[in-house]
Amino acid sequence: MRFEISKVLDAIEGRVTTDPSLARAVVDLAEVIRWQDLDGGRPASLLRLGMVIDALSREMGEDSVPVYAIVHRALLSDADLTSNERMVVRRWADDGLVEVLDHPGDRVLEVADLLGLPVLSRVRFDGLQGRYPWLGQAGRVLAPVPGAGGPVLIAHVGGGQSPASGGRSAVGAKLLARQWRCPEPGCALFGGGGGGGAFADLARVDRAPAAQPPPSLRNGVPTCPRHGVRLGDAGPRPRTEVLAVRIGGLVRRRFVLTETQAVLVGRAPDPADGIVLGQWLNDEARRWISRSHVRFELRVGEVIVTDTSTNGSGVRPGGSMAESDRIALAPQQSRVLAEGDIVELYPGVQVGRADELPSDAKFSPTSVMAEAPTMAMRLPRP
Ligand SMILES: [Zn+2]
Repeated sequence: MRFEISKVLDAIEGRVTTDPSLARAVVDLAEVIRWQDLDGGRPASLLRLGMVIDALSREMGEDSVPVYAIVHRALLSDADLTSNERMVVRRWADDGLVEVLDHPGDRVLEVADLLGLPVLSRVRFDGLQGRYPWLGQAGRVLAPVPGAGGPVLIAHVGGGQSPASGGRSAVGAKLLARQWRCPEPGCALFGGGGGGGAFADLARVDRAPAAQPPPSLRNGVPTCPRHGVRLGDAGPRPRTEVLAVRIGGLVRRRFVLTETQAVLVGRAPDPADGIVLGQWLNDEARRWISRSHVRFELRVGEVIVTDTSTNGSGVRPGGSMAESDRIALAPQQSRVLAEGDIVELYPGVQVGRADELPSDAKFSPTSVMAEAPTMAMRLPRP
């Protein structure tokens, strides 16, 4: 039982991130875990985060939609959580997967503002519309409430039911063009990766500079939201491109390509940081697709795909699904991806730029809670 809950928490762990390129919505974890009406269970439960992520995933028609969670420090010792749950949140905090703050204030709104993300909350944020005008826009604040097949998202401000992105704000774009360094040793948010610093070697997290969270702005000064100190400018942030994997019409996951590291995609690529497709493939596709089938690189702003497979792959120029348009990519052949181009490893197994590869909405995503034992997931009786 405990083992199974741990597996669910591990699955949820894969859906929390402070990476601005991957986060799809912002939540206040202290709020989410207390939405008792979602399952009628304990006063606080970390599993509710999984239920909320599932609701977001269903609404977006995509698997694996990670959320940016702000965590009040008091939560790390919250007696309403199990000791296992507290341990898990501490691990997320240490790994910089969530932002732990002594005084979160309106950081949820600040992150949503800088990154242009929707907020999942039941708070009405009255009186803050002057500062965050988008609060009144459709789909920017959605409240997860109980529904027949798990939580559903409803608007209590601004209308709309689909989560809407506003795009990064001008200030957000400016802050995210640089990489930052926190003078506090071992800072999980702005440590490592930023280069230099007397205590850089003590940092527990060697965070990829491209994945740094957005700084907090205090009186116009980029500040570490965790330590409240001014951040040092550590140079330009590496360029990134977000790619998506679509299988059978459903976007299964997104991944970030940087100029420093190529990414392998295949049935079961080696090394482990490759994109593993095996679990989503049928037998035929599994036989066709090589362990490492294609390699993606970002060079001077261009996405380059190289076939590394036994059977070859193809490119669909401009996303055209006409067979006559398909360009074969033989083993070891490379090609620059033009706008709208989609790489096809096998019919229906595709990789392209995330904003050019939407899900086909008629598919429903897999639940992050799939491993949850039914006892822990008691739903309110109708
Ligand atoms: Zn810090």
